[in-house]
Amino acid sequence: MNRETSRDLYDRALDVLPGGVNSSVRAAPQPYPTFVSKGDAGHVVDADDNRYVDWVMGLGPLLLGHDVPDEVQAAIQRRTSEGPMYGMPTEIEVDHAEFIARHVPSVEMVRFVNSGTEATVSAVRLARGFTGRDKVIVMQGGYHGAQESTLVSGDREGASPSSPGIPQSFAEHTIPVPFNDEEAAKAAFEEHGDDVAAVLVEPILANKGIVEPNPGYHETLRALTREHGALLVFDEVITGFRVGGLQCAQGKFGVEPDLTTFGKVIGGGFPVGAVGGKTEIMQELTPAGDVFQAGTFSGHPVTMAAGLETLKYAAEEDVFDHVNALGERLRDGLRDIVEDQAPNYSVVGADSLFKVVFTRRGRQPRNGADVADAAVDRWNRVFRPQMLDEGVVLSQNQFESQFVSAAHTEEDVERTLEAYKDAL
Ligand SMILES: *Cc1c(COP(=O)(O)O)cnc(C)c1O
Repeated sequence: MNRETSRDLYDRALDVLPGGVNSSVRAAPQPYPTFVSKGDAGHVVDADDNRYVDWVMGLGPLLLGHDVPDEVQAAIQRRTSEGPMYGMPTEIEVDHAEFIARHVPSVEMVRFVNSGTEATVSAVRLARGFTGRDKVIVMQGGYHGAQESTLVSGDREGASPSSPGIPQSFAEHTIPVPFNDEEAAKAAFEEHGDDVAAVLVEPILANKGIVEPNPGYHETLRALTREHGALLVFDEVITGFRVGGLQCAQGKFGVEPDLTTFGKVIGGGFPVGAVGGKTEIMQELTPAGDVFQAGTFSGHPVTMAAGLETLKYAAEEDVFDHVNALGERLRDGLRDIVEDQAPNYSVVGADSLFKVVFTRRGRQPRNGADVADAAVDRWNRVFRPQMLDEGVVLSQNQFESQFVSAAHTEEDVERTLEAYKDAL
């Protein structure tokens, strides 16, 4: 397969973009990333005109795939032609917030921002402001964007920044615990209970292999936070309007957090984030309350139109049934292949998320450490490149989720399973 144009573009990019990209994970593919020229339904076409089945799907936002339905496209074009943004309020922001509040069990009010990172930054500040406490409990292997409070490594005994540029004193306020470990969460609250502002958790770890919660785990976090006067914050930036359909993962699991962060799907492919929750807490944000939060582009009319029309389309056209059924078909097919060819590997995922984690011990991962232990080199250097040669783009590293969209077909699924069969 000829990928010369991608190579030449990456060569140019390395001179003007650090690492040749604008977001780290995009540079993970060896020896250079595939540059995209355009999308088409469930496929992407690269700069050399090669066509691939695309399971990256923008790293999550593209619930409908690359072909934006007419009504979504019309709404985006109308908003763009009327002037892209104003710095004054518009009706579409109210419409979108009403849609989210109507469907997501724990959400009464919403503050829109411009990325998932900004959403988690705002949620942590709000939780600290509301409780008057500083500490946050996070999951090892959880991801909440490129933000100071959560880029930490370590455990309950001590955390340190996982990136240069973050003061050690910031990490002192963060307590990492293993996902699915109720005892660790209890111990963290026993030690620090009165100082904990929030537990911040992805309902499903979706940036470290896809790890589902053990039955009862979120209920335990809910009980502990309530007992100690801390907030439970679900980071639904990936799972929101993808896992559990319109109710999101909190509806699927039947656990109501105090705050929820959103991103990805709710912008219909445009930059977005949001924090949602009960009025009592949300009212603490400025200008209603005192916890400062603001953004020039927040509630951007084009993004709001794209996101709201996407969600309405999903609600009306049974999109979740379609993507979930294809997700299940992929996971079932992959389980058969893995059982035959790589019995130590684990097929993971839920609804429209799927992945094969190259685990070494043949058991389903229960936390971030189980996934971190995977055979990453085989994935990076042998498996993913072969899948690419077979015309299938998988997520850029072993840890990110892969996403089914409304535009994917049975045929895309069968082709993908055949490629896995060859490459595994
Ligand atoms: C992607 C992601 C973020 C960060 O969102 P950005 O829009 O990339 O800033 C935060 N939390 C989770 C769970 C995510 O998957």
